[in-house]
Amino acid sequence: MSKVNPFEMAQHQLMDCAKILKLDQGVVDILMQPQRQIQVSIPVKMDDGTTRVFQGFRVQYNNALGLYKGGIRYHPEETIDTVRALSAWMTWKCAVLNLPLGGGKGGIICNPKEMSKGELERMSRGYIRAIWKNIGPDTDVPAPDVYTDGQIMAWMMDEYSTIQGKNQFGLLTGKPLVIGGSLGRGDSTAKGGLFTLREAAKELNIDLKTAKVAILGYGNAGAFASTLVQEMFGSKVVAVTDSKGGIYDENGLDIAAVAAHKAQTKSVVGYKGLKTLTNDEVMALPVDVIVAAAPDEGAINEKVAPTVKAKVICELANGPTTPEGDAILYKNGVHVIPDFLCNAGGVTVSYYEMVQNMYMHYWTLDDVYAKLDAAMTKSYHEVLKASKEYKINMRQAAYVVAVSRVVEGMKVRGWV
Ligand code: GLU
Repeated sequence: MSKVNPFEMAQHQLMDCAKILKLDQGVVDILMQPQRQIQVSIPVKMDDGTTRVFQGFRVQYNNALGLYKGGIRYHPEETIDTVRALSAWMTWKCAVLNLPLGGGKGGIICNPKEMSKGELERMSRGYIRAIWKNIGPDTDVPAPDVYTDGQIMAWMMDEYSTIQGKNQFGLLTGKPLVIGGSLGRGDSTAKGGLFTLREAAKELNIDLKTAKVAILGYGNAGAFASTLVQEMFGSKVVAVTDSKGGIYDENGLDIAAVAAHKAQTKSVVGYKGLKTLTNDEVMALPVDVIVAAAPDEGAINEKVAPTVKAKVICELANGPTTPEGDAILYKNGVHVIPDFLCNAGGVTVSYYEMVQNMYMHYWTLDDVYAKLDAAMTKSYHEVLKASKEYKINMRQAAYVVAVSRVVEGMKVRGWV
């Protein structure tokens, strides 16, 4: 993870938007800080008989438009500031998609790669026992994020249901299908991002059939994006990176073979003897589209941004670009589809999961994708329109659309 403080970055972006919208100081003061921050210690019996105490967070940023919504990350370098930033971005993410939800985020400082399944289960259940009073289907609904998945959601939901004495499937989203998950949730972040890429390509006259694409980050969203961009548009994926480095083949990579190599060796590096590139080198490749899906906040900074040759950057990860990087990309005419718009597909299908749980009626995959496509397309064009009207970049425009909605909610509720 880079040295950038993500919460300072998030506050900087918000201040920028506050100036554009000429917001009152009282409104800004509310929006600049989370409404509630919870920090808990979670003792866990480890497999070797010792007890370790993990630090966990849940930050509830703003609920003007609806209950707090956002994922839980398991990460060795998690900090309260990362969780704060991510909870702010969740608020804008839900607002820009016009979902009836607010923003929150959770995290535990841990290294899940070094923990057994039993240790992970005990830690996940311990986290819920520590925060259960502050979350719930009507107040704060978590979801998966970096290094958390449907299994972890299932344990958490089960623990909460046990405490409540009844099934509470609506506690969180991203659940396995058999206990109330939604079809299409798994690849929803990547799919949603690619719907916005399709719209951006129309706007910029880019033919995605012949486009070269670099995918930075091979986690959940990045891996789905590398397959889907070929399936949906026929684009050529020429570069892929993970935390160990990147690979590049100008003639295109065989993504299924890269995935098999990664499954076997734990990295894309070394595939077919290709040279290993750094992430910064991959950013500078002669490609049309960069999909930024690596969980490395602030990686696209003032050093990297001037080297970008791509016409479009899809920010599937949260917070990949610093404000300085943004200014350079905008000056150079690179079209950035900003994170909280580009990666909103995940929470949008989470919202669909909540609706299906409430109605106890489940939709087909085609229904989910059609609704997701319509929602992402509409939001992309609302942001594009604001960017043209105000003559501002796409991130500033996404802030203008999202923050205006949150402020309107705060005003009618009488908060300001
Ligand atoms: N973790 C995802 C995000 O950052 C999804 C959150 C959710 O579904 O609540 O958008």
